[in-house]
Amino acid sequence: MTQYDVIVLGGGVVGAATACALARRNLRVALIERFSPAHDRGSSHGDGRMIRYDYSEPIYVEMAAASYIAWDALAVRAGEPLVKKTGLCNFGPADNPQLAELESTMRTFGLACERLDAAQTHARFPQYRIEPGSETVYQPDGGVVFADRAVLALWRCATKNGVETIEQAYVRDVEVHADRVTLCDTTGRSWTGARLVLAAGGWTAPLLRDLGIVVSLEVTQEQLAYFPPISDIDHRVGTMPNCIDYHTEQPFYCLPMVRIPGVKIGWHHTGPVIDPDAPRTLNTDNIHGVQDFVRRRCPHLDPHPIQTVQCLYTNSLDYHFVLDRVPGHPHIVVAAGFSGHGFKFGPVLGEMLAAKLLDETPPMDMSIFSIHRFEQAVSRRTTA
Ligand SMILES: Cc1cc2nc3c(=O)[nH]c(=O)nc-3n(C[C@H](O)[C@H](O)[C@H](O)COP(=O)(O)OP(=O)(O)OC[C@H]3O[C@@H](n4cnc5c(N)ncnc54)[C@H](O)[C@@H]3O)c2cc1C
Repeated sequence: MTQYDVIVLGGGVVGAATACALARRNLRVALIERFSPAHDRGSSHGDGRMIRYDYSEPIYVEMAAASYIAWDALAVRAGEPLVKKTGLCNFGPADNPQLAELESTMRTFGLACERLDAAQTHARFPQYRIEPGSETVYQPDGGVVFADRAVLALWRCATKNGVETIEQAYVRDVEVHADRVTLCDTTGRSWTGARLVLAAGGWTAPLLRDLGIVVSLEVTQEQLAYFPPISDIDHRVGTMPNCIDYHTEQPFYCLPMVRIPGVKIGWHHTGPVIDPDAPRTLNTDNIHGVQDFVRRRCPHLDPHPIQTVQCLYTNSLDYHFVLDRVPGHPHIVVAAGFSGHGFKFGPVLGEMLAAKLLDETPPMDMSIFSIHRFEQAVSRRTTA
């Protein structure tokens, strides 16, 4: 006897958005979460996440366009703003190929973008300093999604749409039958649904292994630090652009002040591999690298952080997402490998995953997210 048409395992931005999308299709949906909404053990917490068109892959530009619309629609339903546009500066040496690629993709999509030299950058954006010979590709639509408020809004929207939301339920066993799945938690409770969406973030790989599927998903502990302004130059969201700095192999990125009185700065993909259940630790090497960046790039910030936050990336081999049916289990869809850039697409990922699960035509081409692209990495272990 199935209690639900679909069970969504994992209540981060992806799971909560998927539960909303499924409930809008008048399905009986359960959303099961080990902790509480917007908790700080996974990947979807904190005051802000960058949203941007600035990708060289057209699919992400399309998804970003749909995401801006979807977040605005959710903001109306939630009765509070969830995104604020603030612009995005992409910095790099004048001949940097990534800047050139971004610029040409923006032009292909007819999106506004400007190329500024150092003097022009300093005149327009005094919060930043770049070296002579470096340039900025500026895109005005860059913005900030108010992360934890957005996750809480998705949970409220899910509940309003009839989703049964179950918190503090740590699922330890996924029992798969041909026509249903039964999930059991550590307290012995169980839930049965005809279909399942696995949106378990950093905890996905072991759940897939239990289903006989091995996909390389490396979990890293990434870190953010907040640096307070030391002058009266405004660093608040809406007055200061985000930045992504391509002067280093792994880019630094900045988000203006939202709730915490400091500019948020991170160093993409530099965190250590971690067991998602391990305690979070302060990464001092990372802090030193980010402080050097602040001294170099942000002349009006105190290089001593007022707060640091740790958070998980779940990295696929190519940093593209895995959004697909689980091989051998057509009634189970997996959503993983968001590799540090999935939050902005939350509501659109929900629609794409619902379409994949229900065999609908997806809102956009999902072939780049196929689990089979790692065929050599996907081995179907014959269960004993
Ligand atoms: C430092 C940092 C900065 C980032 N910056 C950006 C940015 O600027 N822009 C952007 O777009 N993206 C950004 N990201 C990436 C983005 O935050 C993630 O891609 C996104 O939050 C992933 O969401 P998720 O729902 O897959 O994962 P999560 O939020 O981790 O959700 C998975 C959930 O599953 C639950 N779960 C797992 N196993 C079980 C179980 N067995 N039983 C019950 N529940 C379970 C977990 O408790 C968790 O709540 C950043 C990420 C980090 C870490």
